[in-house]
Amino acid sequence: MSRLQKVFEQLPAAFLARLREIVSEENYEAVLTTFAAPRATSFRVNTLRAETRAVVRALEAAGLTLHPAPWKDDAFWVAPAERAALLASAPYREEQIYVQNLASMAPAWVLAPAPGERVLDLAAAPGSKTLQMACRMHNEGEIAAVEVVKGRFFKLRANLEAQGATNVRTFLQDGTRVWRYRPEHFDRVLLDAPCSTEGRFHLSDPASYTYWSPRKIKEMARKQRRLLFSAVQCLKPGGVLVYATCSFAPEENEAILDKTLRTFGDALHLEPLGLDLPAMQPPLAQWQGKSFRHNLSEARRLLPTDVMEGFFLAKIRKVRTTLRGAG
Ligand code: SAM
Repeated sequence: MSRLQKVFEQLPAAFLARLREIVSEENYEAVLTTFAAPRATSFRVNTLRAETRAVVRALEAAGLTLHPAPWKDDAFWVAPAERAALLASAPYREEQIYVQNLASMAPAWVLAPAPGERVLDLAAAPGSKTLQMACRMHNEGEIAAVEVVKGRFFKLRANLEAQGATNVRTFLQDGTRVWRYRPEHFDRVLLDAPCSTEGRFHLSDPASYTYWSPRKIKEMARKQRRLLFSAVQCLKPGGVLVYATCSFAPEENEAILDKTLRTFGDALHLEPLGLDLPAMQPPLAQWQGKSFRHNLSEARRLLPTDVMEGFFLAKIRKVRTTLRGAG
C-alpha cells in the first residue's frame, strides 16, 4: 500500500476534506505525504550549557551530518536515519542540545526577546520555547512561564532546571486570568496556544490524530480566544506578542486573530514575521463562505514538510493601551 493510501485509510475523512480546502489543491498531496514520511530530527544547542561550535564539532566527530536551520541560528537537523545516533551522543546526554521541531522554534525566533526584558510565556509546558527564550536572553531579564495542568507544570520545572534556565519564574495558573494580576507588564508575550495539534499528525503516532473532532476544534478556539485576550492585556503598549498554534484549522488561527482585532480595534497591528520560508503560505481571507473582517495578510501558515511540522504564526504589536479607562 502506498503512503498516500495509508493516509487516506487512517486519518479522519472529515479532517482530510477540510485540509484540502485549507492548504489548496496544489499543496494537498505534498502535505498528505508528510503525514506518513519519516521526519528529520531537529535540535537547538543549549547555549546556556555549551558553545555551538564545540557541540557541532562533537556531533560531527560522532559521524552525524548536521544541516543548519533556515534562520542559521543555533539550530540544526539530521536525517531520520541519524536520529538514534543523535540521541545516543554525549551532547544530548549532557543536556547540551534540546530536541525540538524546527517549526516549533519559529515562534520564539519571531518574538526575539532580548537580554534584560520582561517576557511572558502564557502556555509554557513542557518548556521548549521557554528554554529557547532563556538561551536568547542569556539568562538575563525575566521570563514568567505559566501552565495550568499540574503534571505538565512539573515537567516544565524539571526541564528548566535540567537545561540550566535561571531567569524563569514558573506559575501553576490559568493563563486566562494572568492579565488581572499583571496588566500591561511585559515587553513581549508568547502565546503558543493549546490547540487541536493537526500540524503534528503522523501515522507513526496514532494518538496524534485518533481524538480529532470538529468539537475539539471548537473547544480549543474558545480557550484560544480567552488566552489571547489575556495575552494582549498583559502586554505593554509598544510591546510585541506572538500568537502560534500547530493547527491547520482556520477557527483556531485566522478566526481568533480576526475576533481579537475586533475586540481591541486599532490598538493592535499585525506585523511581518521577518521570516521567509519556502513552505510558508499567506493566511486565508475567508473560510466556509465567510470573509474575515480584518486584513490578516502578515500572518503565515507553515505547511508541514519532511523537516517541519505544520504551524500558524502571527506577530502583533500593541500600539496603545487596551485597559479600559486608561490612555
Ligand atoms: N509552549 C510549549 C512548548 O513549546 O514546550 C507548548 C505549549 S502547548 C502547545 C499548550 C500548553 O498550554 C499545554 O501545556 C496546556 O496544558 C497549556 N494550557 C492549556 N490551557 C491553559 C490555560 N488556560 N492557561 C495556561 N496554560 C494552558
